[in-house]
Amino acid sequence: MAVRNIRQIGDGMLKKKCREIKEITPRIKELIEDMKETMYEANGVGLAAPQVGVLKRVVVIDVGEGPLVLINPRLLETAGEQTGEEGCLSVPGKYGIVSRPMYVKFEAWNENMEHVVLEGEELFARAVCHEIDHLEGQMYVEKTVDGLHDVEYEEDDE
Ligand code: ZN
Repeated sequence: MAVRNIRQIGDGMLKKKCREIKEITPRIKELIEDMKETMYEANGVGLAAPQVGVLKRVVVIDVGEGPLVLINPRLLETAGEQTGEEGCLSVPGKYGIVSRPMYVKFEAWNENMEHVVLEGEELFARAVCHEIDHLEGQMYVEKTVDGLHDVEYEEDDE
């Protein structure tokens, strides 16, 4: 496993639509493991493959309940709305206020290419929407209500 370099805003990779994954190859397995390690190293709650320069539809998410690997994720249903702070490992030191659904139901395939249907609310719903946007080449900075703000770091960050 290896920590990969996270692409920063302005990198063309972050604006491209990603391709579906058809089968789990050793390379995809390695990508998934590297993405988890990269996400944890950066203290993120989610990471999408284009953020490490790979244009494939795979994301990893951990909102505090353990890592979740989502391959070819697709929203099936959304409900409600939440408006709150959102950040991105590709836009370090910044955050913005973004409205997202409060609830999402989605399908995806796991690391063994088994089809799963999952649902969640609040931070998890926000993370799923944020990461699926990455797979479409979209970033949250285009969805903020009032632009980007600087993060005020707490003492033991960094
Ligand atoms: Zn992001």
